[in-house]
Amino acid sequence: MKRTETRKINVGGIQIGSQNRVVIQSMTNTKTKDVEATVRQIAALEEAGCEIIRVAILDMDDAKAIGAIKKQIHIPLVCDIHFNPEFALEAIRQGTDKIRLNPGNIENEDKIREIVSLCKERQIPIRIGINAGSLNKKYEHSEEAMIESAKDHLRILEELDFHDVCLSFKSSDPLECIRIYHLAAETFPYPLHLGVTEAGGLLDSTIKSSLALGSLLMDGIGDTIRISISDDPVKEVIVARKLLRACGLKKDVANLISCPTCGRIQYDMLPIVREMEEYLNTVNKDISVAIMGCPVNGPQEASRADVGIAGGKDAAILFKKGKIVRTIRQEDIISELKKEIEAL
Ligand code: SF4
Repeated sequence: MKRTETRKINVGGIQIGSQNRVVIQSMTNTKTKDVEATVRQIAALEEAGCEIIRVAILDMDDAKAIGAIKKQIHIPLVCDIHFNPEFALEAIRQGTDKIRLNPGNIENEDKIREIVSLCKERQIPIRIGINAGSLNKKYEHSEEAMIESAKDHLRILEELDFHDVCLSFKSSDPLECIRIYHLAAETFPYPLHLGVTEAGGLLDSTIKSSLALGSLLMDGIGDTIRISISDDPVKEVIVARKLLRACGLKKDVANLISCPTCGRIQYDMLPIVREMEEYLNTVNKDISVAIMGCPVNGPQEASRADVGIAGGKDAAILFKKGKIVRTIRQEDIISELKKEIEAL
């Protein structure tokens, strides 16, 4: 898929923008100054497939913790800073890979110059983030106003000849997100970070984020993504991976095919689906695995699966690419499937 041409930025060794792959981000919900808890959560997110992590900087202790956190993690780290330039300067000195900061919110111009010159020296990009809900009061709420707000923040950086920038325009309304990001892609040459903000719990956010981000990604818009979920951030990463796979933008994610079940089913399939779904979230392979309700239609319906089972009354059949391979015992379905998946 042809992606929108943008400038490119480098976040801790990951190239973002233009024809580079779409990168998965998440954000910790620990106190950043609690280094142990923050590192533990980042480790879980890394394991799930998170590629860039953002942490909130609320005070100087948070900023001072960045060095210790960076030493114990393996993915680039972004510091999210509002208003206070000293926190930004400290986070940069501590080795953050990127900062999220809206320069128009910092009144002291000397401090902005100091931040920009330090970012230039260390090649640290800045993300300007415009949120519909927290738009400066001087603007009436509209998509054009969000673009104007971004221009105001950008002007400050561009006047200092700083272009190592990415932008985000988040709204809690997925349709507004689609419109605003299209406008942004037409207006700015910078890479875009996509997200529907305050999107709700797992189900609501998955629907809203898939609608907005899926539509934008299929139009070639978006360079990094975050799925905001009111839950464990590991779930954000799992949904992001599945969404990128569904859009054809990521391959190393296992795909589960399972039938909705119907009156022909003769075994307790749903607990098997749930367990296999969890297991497949940890499998980084370009494979499809099917769990089907009956041997009559199952193998044929799932003929594109690399491996699958169709359960019957007493036994299940194991099939590969639609062809039956052997019969297995009901109680061995999960272990047999895992064995076959490991061998793929
Ligand atoms: S695979 Fe069998 S049980 Fe599942 S939906 Fe199809 S016919 Fe029904």
